[in-house]
Amino acid sequence: MKNIEHIGIAVKNLEVSNKLYASLFGKKHYKTEEVASEGVKTSFFKVGSNKIELLEATKEDSPIAKFIEKKGEGVHHIAFAVTDIVSEMKRLKSEGFIVLNEKPKKGADNKLVAFLHPKSTNGVLIELCQEIE
Ligand code: ZN
Repeated sequence: MKNIEHIGIAVKNLEVSNKLYASLFGKKHYKTEEVASEGVKTSFFKVGSNKIELLEATKEDSPIAKFIEKKGEGVHHIAFAVTDIVSEMKRLKSEGFIVLNEKPKKGADNKLVAFLHPKSTNGVLIELCQEIE
């Protein structure tokens, strides 16, 4: 596993939160992207060398909608960059972590992603992401 690639924050309303975080960071988000398969709309901010991803649900039954229903808005996941997501998934499985995806899937920001169940990581949803070449 390499550096923290980004931190994901679940929000109820992307437009409202884009404004809130723009005034917090002193700059606007640099892109928005919808991942229809995940029922989510995202926006990205760069803060120094770090990235923050805001996530808004586009469907009632999407994972983000369920998260907000249960826990409210807030930190949703921490994403780590990996070089080879498939071998990293294999390694983590063999270490006893619960990998939520059989195969990596296409996420936002031109990435292949996979998630680890928070049950196996002290309550933190971990995303692995590999840049698509
Ligand atoms: Zn993410």
